[in-house]
Amino acid sequence: MKILKFGGTSVGKPERMKSVATLIQSDEPKIVVLSALSGTTNVLVSISEDLFGRYQKNALEKITELEAHYMMFVRSLYSTQEAVQKSKQVFEKHFGLMREIAEKPNFTGKEERTLLAQGELLSTQMFQLYLEEIGYPSVLLNALDFMKTDSDGEPILEYIEQKLQHTIAQTPDAKTFITQGYICKNTRGETDNLKRGGSDYTASLVGAAIRATEIQIWTDIDGMHNNDPRIVPNTKPVAELSFEEAAELAYFGAKILHPATIHPAKMYNIPVRLLNTLQPDAKGTIITNELSYTSQSIKSVAAKDNIIAIKIKSTRMLLAYGFLRRVFEVFEKYKTPIDMITTSEVAVSLTIDNATSLASIIRELEYFGVVEVDKDQSIVCVVGDLVAENKGVVAKIFAALQHIPIRMISYGGSQHNISILISTKDKERTLQTLHKGLFS
Ligand code: ASP
Ligand code: MG
Repeated sequence: MKILKFGGTSVGKPERMKSVATLIQSDEPKIVVLSALSGTTNVLVSISEDLFGRYQKNALEKITELEAHYMMFVRSLYSTQEAVQKSKQVFEKHFGLMREIAEKPNFTGKEERTLLAQGELLSTQMFQLYLEEIGYPSVLLNALDFMKTDSDGEPILEYIEQKLQHTIAQTPDAKTFITQGYICKNTRGETDNLKRGGSDYTASLVGAAIRATEIQIWTDIDGMHNNDPRIVPNTKPVAELSFEEAAELAYFGAKILHPATIHPAKMYNIPVRLLNTLQPDAKGTIITNELSYTSQSIKSVAAKDNIIAIKIKSTRMLLAYGFLRRVFEVFEKYKTPIDMITTSEVAVSLTIDNATSLASIIRELEYFGVVEVDKDQSIVCVVGDLVAENKGVVAKIFAALQHIPIRMISYGGSQHNISILISTKDKERTLQTLHKGLFS
């Protein structure tokens, strides 16, 4: 079985949704995972914000607007009145629930999560009605029946596996299953989600759960590019990436894939293919363990913003053991992950991207020595096969960076990446000059 995941823009217009229906029509058994129509989750987030702020009237207006948008959508999606009527019933149920939530006197996180789940519940039912109208058989699976997270919000793969395999076995003749990305149940049995962009993660969890032969992530770009196409002209899709390389890129800013997606696929060695709905024949990017021999050594450059660099200078660190542990314990206490780290004999520099507890962290670190904080930093990460034998690689990277002030360098943590910390104001020219130096 294959998994085919389509993002919000791939189903965001009636014509697009129709193209998706064409794309999935094959004899191969498959599970189709859909996001909400593009823009919907953003609207649901803003409705939630209104409700937290007690602006019920605004929230209700937005619900009405959204429903009108969906009505327009199905009028051009379906060609029969019957399908339009059926979708109206679906809308009555879901928009009705949204209104009920909006009118309740108190709005909490629980209501918010229920609200956020409506987008995927709607898109999948609309899509299935379309398949029904064109006479293509499919089975709709409710992700809330098998997607479950633990008390840390992490998916419970064993549970997903058991439930999903059992559910699929109920309809042995079915070839095409459809389900929602993003949404799940939590330990309290409430509706929850896998965080923004989480539909990719659903696809790879579902793929791992049924040991799929391939996980396809369909978006509106032809694969993972070798640099940020919004900043650098003439970027190209990377044909092949290893799981490790893809994980680094997804984490360090390549927006195309949710960073958590790689792990479940890697666990069962399931290839992940990134494809473009607008250019279905383009090769895209394949993420796999079996890279072809001709695979390039440097694959791609990506950048992540809103990084904070913290330097702790201490003469106490000199020849001391246990110093780093005590520094790390501060970050652990405030549940703040560290991304990059470099040390010298008398100082340690590290980066975080979560400023929630910054003030408390600094206060505690000052016990160890002088603390310096630099905000508005970006991590630029060069990803590829950078094994030590690959001699010229590092020289090439730094030759390209000769005019860029560098705050930190991290190399050797993995064979797949060199991370460089720069000031965000230098990001554009850093990406451009690296692109010239490495790919042209
Ligand atoms: N609809 C959700 C979001 O916009 C999940 C997803 O599209 O992956 O974040
Ligand atoms: Mg996405």
